[in-house]
Amino acid sequence: MPACAQCSLHQNRMAESVDPSKLMKSWSIWPSTIEGAGPAYDIEEAFRRLPLPYADQEFNIDPIKEELESVTKPPPYVHLKHNVYFVKKKCDGDAIEAKCSDCDPPLTCQIRCSCRSVSISCSQACKCSNKCTNRPFRREKRIGVVKTQHCGWGAIALETIEEGDFVIEFVGEVIDGARCEERLQDMRQRRDKNFYMCKVNNNFIIDATFRGNDCRFFNHSCRPNCQLENWQVSGKTRLGVFSLQGIRVGEPLTYNYSFEQHFGPQTECFCGAENCRGKL
Ligand SMILES: [Zn+2]
Ligand SMILES: [Zn+2]
Ligand SMILES: [Zn+2]
Ligand SMILES: [Zn+2]
Repeated sequence: MPACAQCSLHQNRMAESVDPSKLMKSWSIWPSTIEGAGPAYDIEEAFRRLPLPYADQEFNIDPIKEELESVTKPPPYVHLKHNVYFVKKKCDGDAIEAKCSDCDPPLTCQIRCSCRSVSISCSQACKCSNKCTNRPFRREKRIGVVKTQHCGWGAIALETIEEGDFVIEFVGEVIDGARCEERLQDMRQRRDKNFYMCKVNNNFIIDATFRGNDCRFFNHSCRPNCQLENWQVSGKTRLGVFSLQGIRVGEPLTYNYSFEQHFGPQTECFCGAENCRGKL
């Protein structure tokens, strides 16, 4: 039964004057505001039956656009080349004065180099040459960002990587414990499960949630091909991703999030490794 007297009147008049089966056009409106209503044989009738406000319900393309974009490109963030500091000290502890003096130039500094052994990048104070390989953080590897099957967005190598190579710096906003706690609370309220924080210590946390680089897209693996290392470069604490093995072009780049510096909400792991712990 039509819901309003006006519609029922109109329909009756239509039925009397025109044989509906002879009409070429009819308008089926869905969702109809009129329960049990048949097709409308008149454009005015069709518009009358349109649910209001129809613009919001039927023609809002934003959710569709958003859904499409979530497949074609990762959610936006501000790209950073270097860390941005919300803390006074750019070092997680006391800066260590280090320079190697027994490395022979022009040889590069090997394992026994006093700088390398404590994860400090060689500097001008060192006796080694400018070609010394113990100066990571100077050139990052070419990396691609791709959509993965189970783990959201991920990073892949776009060039061959040798074992021990510096791959990329974990860059973001350096925040203290109090600010970190605030942000974690906001995250919980937003029910945001994408976690981009890395804790160096309680008052030196690098947060790449809003600003960062491609390192944000490295996924966790229980059998990773890279690892995160804490280095000191010219008195600043910097986190670098280094490869644990040779990596071919196109291979996914991963590190172990449960490395003591990482923390956050527990999520399921889909890394596919034989030793996968199922959670991270
Ligand atoms: Zn050196
Ligand atoms: Zn050295
Ligand atoms: Zn040195
Ligand atoms: Zn796993």
